[in-house]
Amino acid sequence: MGKITGFLEFDRKIEAYEPVEERLKDYKEFTIPLPEKELKEQGARCMDCGIPFCHSGCPLGNLIPDFNDAVYRAKWEKASEILHSTNNFPEFTGRLCPAPCEEACVLGINEDPVTIENIEKNIVETAFKKGWITAKPPLNKTGKKVAVVGSGPAGLATAQQLNRAGHDVTVFERDEKPGGLLRYGIPDFKMEKNIIDRRLEILKEEGITFKCGVHIGIDIKADALKEEYDAIILTGGATIRRNLPIEGSDLKGVVQAMDFLGQNNRRVDGITDLGEEIKATGKDVVVIGGGDTGSDCIGTSFRHGATSVSNFEIMPMATTERPEGQPWPFWPMRLRTSSSHKEGAERFFSISTKKFIGDADGNLKGLITSEVEWIKTPGQRPQLKEVPGTEKEWKCELALLALGFTGSENTVSNQLGLEMDARTNIKASENDYKTNVPGVFAAGDQRRGQSLIVWAISEGRQAAHHVDKYLMGETALPLKGEGDLPRV
Ligand SMILES: Cc1cc2nc3c(=O)[nH]c(=O)nc-3n(C[C@H](O)[C@H](O)[C@H](O)COP(=O)(O)OP(=O)(O)OC[C@H]3O[C@@H](n4cnc5c(N)ncnc54)[C@H](O)[C@@H]3O)c2cc1C
Ligand code: SF4
Repeated sequence: MGKITGFLEFDRKIEAYEPVEERLKDYKEFTIPLPEKELKEQGARCMDCGIPFCHSGCPLGNLIPDFNDAVYRAKWEKASEILHSTNNFPEFTGRLCPAPCEEACVLGINEDPVTIENIEKNIVETAFKKGWITAKPPLNKTGKKVAVVGSGPAGLATAQQLNRAGHDVTVFERDEKPGGLLRYGIPDFKMEKNIIDRRLEILKEEGITFKCGVHIGIDIKADALKEEYDAIILTGGATIRRNLPIEGSDLKGVVQAMDFLGQNNRRVDGITDLGEEIKATGKDVVVIGGGDTGSDCIGTSFRHGATSVSNFEIMPMATTERPEGQPWPFWPMRLRTSSSHKEGAERFFSISTKKFIGDADGNLKGLITSEVEWIKTPGQRPQLKEVPGTEKEWKCELALLALGFTGSENTVSNQLGLEMDARTNIKASENDYKTNVPGVFAAGDQRRGQSLIVWAISEGRQAAHHVDKYLMGETALPLKGEGDLPRV
C-alpha cells in the first residue's frame, strides 16, 4: 500500500522528455527516466484506499497497489513477479497505455493520481536489466496443436499463455516480422522495436514457433489450417481503414496514415525496398483525424522535416477537465495532448475537409475545409451541420488520412464460414471467445474492433483460458486479474 503518508509528502512526478529540437533528430525514444529514489516516492503515493478502483480501471486487472508497495520498498524482483502475473508484456503497456487505471485511481478524485504506467515501465525495465525475465518453457506437453493467426499484442499474449499450458503453438504472421501494429503502426519514437525483439526471443526460447510472411487465407487456406490444428485463434486486428471519399482523394499526396507510418517504420528498420517513397520533408502537411494514429503521423512528419503540420478533428475541442456525465472512476473523454502534438502541430477542431485540390500533374496542392457544428436533438444521434460562410483553402502537399478503422478483413472468416458482427468484426462472445465454428476463437481488435494494446493483451489471455478449457476440459490459465501463472 505504499507509505501511509506518502500521498501527503510527495507530488506526482513522471519522467521528462528530451527537448523537441533534440528528439526530432532521430526516431529514438526520448524519455528521461526518474532516479530510483524518486520512483520509490511515486510508489509511496499509493494509498491504502480500501477498494482499489485502479484494478477495475485496468483491462488486465493489474495488481497495482501490490506492485506500487513493492517499488516503495525497493523489492523490484517481487514487483516484477506481481506485474507479470497479470500482464505478459508490461514493457508495451508501460510505454503506450493511455492508463485508464490512473483515471480510476482513488487519489485522482482530488489530487494527481499515482503514476501507475510509469512505475510499470520501470519495474519491467529493471527486471530486464537485472536478468530476471527469462524463458519459462512448459514442464509437460499436451500433444495439442494450436495456430494463432496474427502476431499483434493479442496474438502474442494468447500464444504465450497457451504455450505455458503445454500446447504446441505456431503463430502465423503475413508481415516480415512479428508485432502487428506495435511494429508496423506505432513509431519507434514511442517504442523502439528492440523492445519487441527482446520479448520475442523469450517467447521463441519458451518453444513458440513463428512463421512470418505467411498470409492465412491466401498462402494457406483457412480450412487447411483447421484440418491440421486442434484449435485456431484469430487475432488479425481491425485493419480496414476508413476512407474520405471526397473530390480529389485520388490525387498524389493524399495518403492513408497506415501506409505512411508502416513505410517509415520499415525504413527505420533498415529496409530499402519500400516502393514509392512517402515523405513529409519540406511539405505543408495536414493530418486529418485527431486520434493516436493522427498523433503518430504528426511526430513522424516533424522527424521527416515537414514545413508545417496541421491536425484536423471533426469533433469539437474537449475540455481538459472531466466532462459532466463521465464521473470518476470512468474513463473521461477529455482533451489529450500527446508529445507529438507538443512538437509544433497546430490543432483545429470542428473542421471538415470538403475537397482536395490538385495541380495540372495530379499532385495535391491544397484542400478546402469548412467549420461544422453538431446539432443535438433529444432521442437522436447528433447531426453534423456545416457552418455557412466558413469555407477556407489551405496549402497542403501531403494529406494523411487518420480516420480510424471500420472493421476486420473477411478472407479467413469467409473460408471458415464465420459469423461477423454489425461492425464487421468476428462475432465471438466475451464470455468464451468462441466463434460459431467449433475450435475457432477470436480475440483482440479482430473481435472487439480497433481498441488498445492493453485490451488486446487482456483478450489474448482470456481467450487462451477458454481455448485451453476447450482442448483439455479444464484449465489452470488465469482469467482477468487472477494473476499467478501456472507452471504446467
Ligand atoms: C498508428 C496506431 C497507433 C496506436 N497507438 C496506440 C497506443 O499508443 N496505445 C495503445 O494502447 N494502442 C494504440 N493503438 C491501438 C493498438 O495498436 C491496437 O489496438 C492493438 O495493436 C491491437 O492488437 P491486435 O493484436 O488485436 O491486432 P494488431 O496489432 O493489428 O495485429 C494483427 C496482426 O495480424 C496480422 N494478420 C492479419 N490477418 C492475417 C492473416 N490472414 N494471416 C496472417 N497474419 C494476419 C497483421 O499483419 C498484424 O500483424 C494504435 C493503433 C494505431 C493504428
Ligand atoms: S496496463 Fe494500462 S491500465 Fe493497466 S495498470 Fe498498466 S497503465 Fe494502467
